[in-house]
Amino acid sequence: MRRWLPLLLLPLLAALVLLLPRAVVLPPAWDPSAPLDLRAPPGFLTRYKLSRMAREPGACAAAFALSGIPLHQLPPQPLREGCGIVEPVRLASELRFLPSAPVVNCPIAAAWVVFERHGLQPAALASLGQRVTGVRHLGTYNCRNVYGQEGGRRSQHATANAIDIAGFTLADGRSVGLPRDWNAPDQAGDFLRRARDAACRVFATVLGPDYNAAHRDHFHLDRGGWGTCR
Ligand SMILES: [Zn+2]
Repeated sequence: MRRWLPLLLLPLLAALVLLLPRAVVLPPAWDPSAPLDLRAPPGFLTRYKLSRMAREPGACAAAFALSGIPLHQLPPQPLREGCGIVEPVRLASELRFLPSAPVVNCPIAAAWVVFERHGLQPAALASLGQRVTGVRHLGTYNCRNVYGQEGGRRSQHATANAIDIAGFTLADGRSVGLPRDWNAPDQAGDFLRRARDAACRVFATVLGPDYNAAHRDHFHLDRGGWGTCR
């Protein structure tokens, strides 16, 4: 009998393996196939779900709809020679952007919502005791190669899959920015370093003054790079 026991258990094991995925209902934050709730704090699947959005047309707009966050969609700009915007939208934010209403690819807008809510504002409150009200940026879409090099690969900016942030305005009207405050041994410097670290939990690539001289005056945030956080 003992010799036959493993054979008898086999069908039982097979039934368990087949039925388990149907029986176990994962919470959305733990379910890789569930759409991303942009209101939820970033978890271990957030960056994966943001990457999936870029591969599945309509998934990004669906995440905004599910999250109850309005999305201003624009007509697609078909890709030509590596430049264009697949799902252009106005960046969804409660903050005042300067220049105003930047246009980005939808997954960047989705990442920004999570970053602003769960990274940027908590960083400002922790370091400076007040909220961010405005963002100064250096651009999103730009049909060019990395560092503008001829023959190089296309920049993430060539598909509006990136945004360059130069600084922030606070509720009391004060401004904090790069490069002036980056190495400052005060609350402003602390805020910028916290904001950079928080961005790394949502964006694929975050480059700032610690990366190289080309980024001394801004944070480059994108959703398509190599996973660098510096
Ligand atoms: Zn950039």
